[in-house]
Amino acid sequence: AQVPNIRLNSGVEIPQFGFGVFQIDPDDVGPALGTAFEAGYRHVDTAQMYRNETEVGKAIAASGLRRDEVFVTTKLDNDRHGHDEAVAALGESLDRLGLDHVDLFLVHWPRPSEDRYVETWKGFEKLAADGRARAIGVSNFQVPHLERLAAETGTVPAVNQIELHPHLPQEELRAYHREHGIATEAWGPIGQGGDLLTDERLVGLAEKYGKTPAQIVLRWHIELGNIVFPKSVTPSRIRENIDVFDIELAPADMATIGELDTGERMGPNPDEFG
Ligand code: NAD
Repeated sequence: AQVPNIRLNSGVEIPQFGFGVFQIDPDDVGPALGTAFEAGYRHVDTAQMYRNETEVGKAIAASGLRRDEVFVTTKLDNDRHGHDEAVAALGESLDRLGLDHVDLFLVHWPRPSEDRYVETWKGFEKLAADGRARAIGVSNFQVPHLERLAAETGTVPAVNQIELHPHLPQEELRAYHREHGIATEAWGPIGQGGDLLTDERLVGLAEKYGKTPAQIVLRWHIELGNIVFPKSVTPSRIRENIDVFDIELAPADMATIGELDTGERMGPNPDEFG
């Protein structure tokens, strides 16, 4: 796999393609990540909420890869907002992962009803200054949340990780990100394996390019510049998903995928969740 790096606004390089471990049973994390590392994945996306950081750390240790060859992201649990809480919570993650730093630490959800994400972000700035997080970012932030960070703190998030797939292409947030130097990470990139992948337009494109619908959607993300980390525990799919660097979608085919927008979320509304 020829996975390109994307340079974040802090200068840190992130592989554009990685492996997500949401809803992977702790017992299945080792085998799945073992297959992923063999297939060329060098970027793992976990979270405190996923309750599998310990197994992620073990799988990295077992891989024989050097620490600087694997990009590791984790995310702050929703009940750990606040400056000191965020700092303490990353320390606990590092203990579970068996690492002295993560490459990227994200505020998992803004939780606007609690209204503490600005204070939390100041804790993240401290973690970045300490080097315990090489880069810091956010997840599920809407434009007004990003604008508050810009107005009240000194650090622009390196990334915003948002639900993004052809049914929900997130044009407004992507434009804001482009304008402000924030990289876009797409969660649920293949629509969590649901209806999206049986859409006849995607099935047609899959036939045209000799790929699967999942590969067509993942290639669409790559060409848009999104960072993706699809999840699978099935070895053949783990290998299939990263095998998207030998095709290029024609502009007309990119436009066809752009027509799949329904505006429908799979996940919760970030303005209300948490
Ligand atoms: P996804 O879009 O990656 O879909 C994964 C599902 O698709 C699998 O469970 C499987 O059922 C199916 N699948 C996988 N490969 C396939 C293939 N080749 N063909 C057909 N079906 C296939 O959804 P996701 O896991 O929710 O998202 C990816 C990652 O994003 C997560 O693992 C996690 O790391 C992250 N995430 C973050 C948030 C957040 O709030 N920040 C929320 C959800 C997910």
